[in-house]
Amino acid sequence: MREFDFIRRYLQAGAQAGNGVVVGIGDDAAVVRADAESDWCISSDMLVGGRHFFFDTAPEDLAHKVLAVNLSDMAAMGAVPRWVLLSMALPELDEAWISRFSGRFFAMCREYGVALIGGDTTRGGWVFSVTVIGEVPRGRALTRSAAQAGDDIWVSGQLGWAAAGLQHCLKTVELPPACAEQALAALLRPTPRVALGRLLLPLAHAAQDVSDGLVQDLGHILTASGVGGRIYWPQLPLDECLAAAVSPAQYRDWVLAGGDDYELVFTAPPSVRTEIRQAAQAAGVAVSLVGEMTAEPGLRIVAADGSLLPQEKTGFDHFSDGAVDEAV
Ligand code: ADP
Ligand code: MG
Repeated sequence: MREFDFIRRYLQAGAQAGNGVVVGIGDDAAVVRADAESDWCISSDMLVGGRHFFFDTAPEDLAHKVLAVNLSDMAAMGAVPRWVLLSMALPELDEAWISRFSGRFFAMCREYGVALIGGDTTRGGWVFSVTVIGEVPRGRALTRSAAQAGDDIWVSGQLGWAAAGLQHCLKTVELPPACAEQALAALLRPTPRVALGRLLLPLAHAAQDVSDGLVQDLGHILTASGVGGRIYWPQLPLDECLAAAVSPAQYRDWVLAGGDDYELVFTAPPSVRTEIRQAAQAAGVAVSLVGEMTAEPGLRIVAADGSLLPQEKTGFDHFSDGAVDEAV
């Protein structure tokens, strides 16, 4: 059974409404009513040694990533992250390791204005789980379900770098030094697009972060919104150095289905293009207008010559892909 079938059939189907739940299972974060002005967005994400990271990953990189992947879900909701809980299963309490981990963790907390308020610690085999709580104006959270036919499709930053970094670590490809550095940085220290997400609140219809690959994650927006989409390959944020390092098919796979990008994919009406570019500039991140939502269901990826690109692999699924444990 695939991960998303499990979530839909066994978790979503059994979940109860009520208790102020505005958005339950199925989005980047749950949304619950806080008060007359605000909603809380709550999300948790886990990193497991040998699956999401190599056992020799530097503690600073691990601290960065475990928080970044959670902050990315807040960015996808347009929420301001406020509090985090950190749970860890560690084989031993090595003080040198812990001090390096916590140094980076708290530096990140300061950078993004979040406070650590709890968690859990147990002996075990390298599992990190962060729960993050953020705030959004009442009823305004960006969800996956509000895209409309005719919307533009945008993505932030660049795609495919982390997947390239992973392959480089696994030694299945050898990237030239100039792009190896950027690929490793993307894999180890992704930048959650929190400022951009916040600025998109009054502009975007739907948003989601790209954690499992663009095609799969945009697919969640399509499904949740009941619309289709068309992406134009040449309009995607492509990189010559990375493209030149591997076959066209491999590069396409990294960009469309690589995962671990932690960029935002979002939809907005064409009338706010200027405002979106201004928001991106204010947030210090590039955005690319890559396609449009269509009334016709399904996702199509259009090549430069107008033909449709094949979509053999759509993205990451924990119960059908190998991830890093192939190599560790
Ligand atoms: P994301 O990649 O944005 O973190 P996921 O794809 O991991 O989201 O999860 C999809 C949805 O399923 C989310 O709403 C998440 O909270 C929910 N979910 C995943 N696993 C569980 C679980 N074990 N119990 C309850 N909800 C879950
Ligand atoms: Mg997400």
